[in-house]
Amino acid sequence: MAENPYAPPKAEINKGAPAEIARPAMKMPGTVIAAFVLVSFNAAWGLFAGFAMGDFPMFRIAIYTLLAVGFLRGQALAWQWGIGFPILIIVLMSFVWTQFSRLEMAHLAGVTFGIALLMPIPILLWLRRSRMFFGLQCPKCSETSARPRSFLFTRRQCNACKFEWTPVRR
Ligand SMILES: [Zn+2]
Repeated sequence: MAENPYAPPKAEINKGAPAEIARPAMKMPGTVIAAFVLVSFNAAWGLFAGFAMGDFPMFRIAIYTLLAVGFLRGQALAWQWGIGFPILIIVLMSFVWTQFSRLEMAHLAGVTFGIALLMPIPILLWLRRSRMFFGLQCPKCSETSARPRSFLFTRRQCNACKFEWTPVRR
């Protein structure tokens, strides 16, 4: 990653500011509730399809369960995976469409239904209210765009002003 040579040094940006900042109390917004419902439904659908066909997509069910729990707890890591994982599955599912001529309509319909269930999740999470709920709003400049600065996304950095902080619960 190329550093902006005109940007002030990091020590200066974070000067005098506490590294841990109490996150503002916020009720789960409708956008996150909707994403939570969709993720839970995908997990339930995986279980249901597993019982029906004897083929459990255990990895997917496990990820959806972790996402749902992470959503309830407002974890930024769950927010990040909640965007990345559905997109990955959608891309994988889309490859089925390249086999169009060799597949039955029922299979294609199932895949299309699966994509339709996943598609809204990253969109809902990307909305500003959702990003605020997951503590991605910069305490310094109020921008709601941040990147992880630690493995579990506890520490984060504002994409606008480069301020780094770790939100903590009061
Ligand atoms: Zn900022």
